[in-house]
Amino acid sequence: MTDEERREQMMRLILTLRSRGITDPAILRAFERIDRGAFVTGFFADRAYEDTPLPIACGQTISQPSVVALMTEALEVEPRHKVLEVGTGSGYQAAILSQLARRVYSVERHRPLIAEARAIFARLDLHNITTIATDGSFGLPDQAPFDRIIVTAAAEDPPGPLLAQLRVGGVMVLPVGQSDTVQSLIKVRKLETGYDYEELRPVRFVPLLEGMAKD
Ligand code: SAH
Repeated sequence: MTDEERREQMMRLILTLRSRGITDPAILRAFERIDRGAFVTGFFADRAYEDTPLPIACGQTISQPSVVALMTEALEVEPRHKVLEVGTGSGYQAAILSQLARRVYSVERHRPLIAEARAIFARLDLHNITTIATDGSFGLPDQAPFDRIIVTAAAEDPPGPLLAQLRVGGVMVLPVGQSDTVQSLIKVRKLETGYDYEELRPVRFVPLLEGMAKD
């Protein structure tokens, strides 16, 4: 793909996001700055700018851009925020968040994915993302509390440790569901007195699994 084709396809993707209702200029700018092509290599590289999830290494997937955008919008990220992402995968969602937040911590259970994402962040000069190989169901107690938490793998319920590591007034966005096929994207706001839950839309994510992967 030539640079010109790449630019054109990226602009088309931005138009698709707009048509899906994403209007926040800061979020659209993040999608203009972060080249999804850097996160999709090999067989599917030519399809990097399509609004579709694609396979990445370790049997995982890079999420659909419009879902990344929707989750980012729901997260209400502000420039002073410290954000935790569970499920680094390709690193694309973390890269988008890095344009909007002060610091992003992203955790992943597959070590090879962490290594690849780190290399891409270095190449793209993204220096406010810290990636850690760990089971994200337990969050990152050392860095808690977080202003925002985003989970990009589906659990049956919001994991207790993640709720505990959310700052009061903070927001967590995550897919929940009891099966691989029926999941809802939900937004949880932590209040002084408890939690406020909002159901956003049906989604389909890979499951949140326990423990480190054996790779
Ligand atoms: N945010 C990613 C998409 C990730 S797919 C992107 O932008 O490309 C979901 C990821 O969650 C997978 O890579 C999977 O390995 C990871 N995952 C699943 N369970 C996990 C857990 N308990 N802790 C950390 N990562 C987990």
